[in-house]
Amino acid sequence: MSGISRPPLILQVTGLRKSFTHNRPVCRDISLDVAAGEIVVILGESGSGKSTLLRCLGGQLEPDAGDVKIQDECGILQAIWALEEEERIRLLRSHAGFIQQRPQDGLRMNVTAGANIVESLALLGVRDFATMRRVARDAIEGVEIEAARVDDLPGSFSGGMQQRLQIARSLVKRPKLLLMDEPTGGLDVSVQAKVLDLLRKLVRSLKVAVLLVTHDLGVARMLADRIIVLKSGAIVEDGIADQILDDPHHPYTQLLVSSVLRA
Ligand code: ADP
Ligand code: MG
Repeated sequence: MSGISRPPLILQVTGLRKSFTHNRPVCRDISLDVAAGEIVVILGESGSGKSTLLRCLGGQLEPDAGDVKIQDECGILQAIWALEEEERIRLLRSHAGFIQQRPQDGLRMNVTAGANIVESLALLGVRDFATMRRVARDAIEGVEIEAARVDDLPGSFSGGMQQRLQIARSLVKRPKLLLMDEPTGGLDVSVQAKVLDLLRKLVRSLKVAVLLVTHDLGVARMLADRIIVLKSGAIVEDGIADQILDDPHHPYTQLLVSSVLRA
């Protein structure tokens, strides 16, 4: 992308490595970045290290080597693993959202939909009840759920609605960066397209930078500005989505793209 000026980076990862005890490396020297407002999809088969990588970026798992930098409120890229734990949590909580594949892992199932949404605001210091109530109703309508459902428990929602609720919960704090692990992986195919469409609309209108991991080329095709292909924990291709889909260079990407075309 030389010659084209890119917006400032929101996420910059350099030389990230991770292995688990007695195991082969799961993330091998991964470097990537995501610019403001950009949707980057990491495509890789099951076991290629996608979830491990995201957990290292989201603060849940410390990498063995490398840097994970996230833009702070002053516009400075902060190496999150070099910060004190409290600072790291604060930075991630205020600037990053995390959407899990299983909504049960990203929602609190024993409190209402509205409470799930406003919880992240309370953590950021919003205390006024009337404001929270209004924000919860707006946010739930923003993900195309009736505002009247705000007092219902997430368990009474369908899978697609639970995932939309998780999206509302993450976006209400207006993060600069959204990290998503196979957000439609657990949904029926008929529901997947609707959730992806909504997600695309929301992140575009809010100008959130997105890093999404998936094994599903269809998801990459639908959402990605850039596609990064991960194979056995290493990046084999990284480029503009249209170029990668139309003219993949690495044999592995060629296989991925052609196998879907034939399917
Ligand atoms: P993906 O999300 O692409 O399916 P993962 O990151 O979940 O891949 O897993 C990559 C590899 O790391 C797998 O071989 C998996 O068994 C291993 N792995 C993941 N988490 C752990 C863990 N906590 N302890 C040991 N091995 C793990
Ligand atoms: Mg995974």
